[in-house]
Amino acid sequence: MEAITEIDQIYINGKFVTPNGTEVQSLFNPSTAQIIGRVRLGNATDVDHAVSAAKAAFKMYSGYTIEQRKSILEKIYHAISANQDKLNEAAVAEYGSPLAATKFRTSLAAQFFMDASHALDEIEFEKKFDKAVIVKEPVGVVAAITPWNADYIHMCGKIAPALAAGCTVVIKPSEFNAIETQLLTECFRDAGIPDGLINIVNGTGAVVGSALSSHPDVALVSFTGSTQTGKTISRSAADTVKRLVLELGGKSPNILLDDCDFEAAVPRALLIAFSNSGQACHAGTRLIVPENKLPLVSELLIDAVNKLKIGDLFAEDAQIGPMVNAQQYQRVQSYIQKGIDEGATLLVGGPGHPDGLEGFYVRPTVFTNVSNDMAIAREEIFGPVLSVLTYRSEEEAISIANDSIYGLSAYISSGDAERAKQLAKKIESGRVIINSVVNSEPKTPFGGFKQSGIGRTGWTYGIEMHLEPKVIAF
Ligand code: NAD
Repeated sequence: MEAITEIDQIYINGKFVTPNGTEVQSLFNPSTAQIIGRVRLGNATDVDHAVSAAKAAFKMYSGYTIEQRKSILEKIYHAISANQDKLNEAAVAEYGSPLAATKFRTSLAAQFFMDASHALDEIEFEKKFDKAVIVKEPVGVVAAITPWNADYIHMCGKIAPALAAGCTVVIKPSEFNAIETQLLTECFRDAGIPDGLINIVNGTGAVVGSALSSHPDVALVSFTGSTQTGKTISRSAADTVKRLVLELGGKSPNILLDDCDFEAAVPRALLIAFSNSGQACHAGTRLIVPENKLPLVSELLIDAVNKLKIGDLFAEDAQIGPMVNAQQYQRVQSYIQKGIDEGATLLVGGPGHPDGLEGFYVRPTVFTNVSNDMAIAREEIFGPVLSVLTYRSEEEAISIANDSIYGLSAYISSGDAERAKQLAKKIESGRVIINSVVNSEPKTPFGGFKQSGIGRTGWTYGIEMHLEPKVIAF
């Protein structure tokens, strides 16, 4: 029996307070499916209190100098950096992340504040002309709504650019991450920053999320989550013409060109597809390979899947954890069944748990003979399920890659960097990564084409989304 953590307060105006909402939700360890906590959820009254606090703080904070804002961002960076170990332990227990992956993400979450501080040096806040000046002003109170698949990254990725721009924030994290959120909130409290800059209301999307996204005193909604919820939020934000930053879903293509090193590209394709146990918006879940290389690719895929380290999350080499909750486990199971029913070939994996594991673990699964009209090729599964499609010409590969409502990420493997770059220009996607799993250039934006989103996060791009240009003409 694991210890139960009770989260019964939310964070408003620099203090932990008891919410007005009384509903309580259980929190599970996804590795065991045992209850490890309970969270008391806020309601619309709590949203009103949090937005009032953020609005009052905005009056003062929007007048801060760039140097004062940088100092606040750097204090938060240090507060999070000093607490990495306990943050990581909570992410393993509550989210089911392998330790190595969460270590990377927690340090990146802290780094967002330092990056935002440095990015401020590159923004032209005042631009002078002969007869006018353009000044960039913070947009106002920001409502941030985040998903469960990387709590620290999403919360920090939204708070850092908003504070850098001079905005104040009310954040509704995912109701499935309350233990992680509590520890991160304690870092914000201990950072020694003014009250009211960051306010946090736990709650469901239907209650707290919708109250926030329609609140008249919120100027901008910064949302990360599914495309479906993004559309609902856009509708409720429309009445008061809120600014929107939407980071939504994906079904990213990964094209292996015939000149690539298949021995390297295929294991890399699995890392790209199964990153964050497949619960990643940028996962490259459509592997597009030359038709005549399918036998080789299949052989390499079976070998690579069999070598994956699943479970034992505190081991440094653990790669795959469980799905976040029972609902997500069922969702992935249903897609695996759908792939079988649609007539794709189950190459490796399949329904049920991996041997010896229970909780919300699923079997890493690869389908071949997938066509792009099957649900497993079109819909975001958000679990370790990879669909392999084949092409006969480069044009066909591009057309399969672009035949999607999404456009968040894309991947190419090739022995010829220039050929890959020319192909990348033809892909409808916010980013295209060549011969690598990740984009390691921090000064670049992140965001989607098409139904993968609106706007960008990262470096100066994310801060600019929170600024309104004003012209003062003489
Ligand atoms: P989700 O859309 O179900 O929920 C995201 C957040 O929105 C949660 O906090 C939820 O409570 C809230 N919400 C739900 N209904 C709402 C409503 N009506 N009004 C306001 N808020 C509401 O997504 P999820 O299941 O938590 O996360 C998985 C999804 O997130 C996937 O689709 C994934 O691709 C996407 N995602 C995108 C990115 C990106 O950067 N593009 C990153 C991570 C995850």
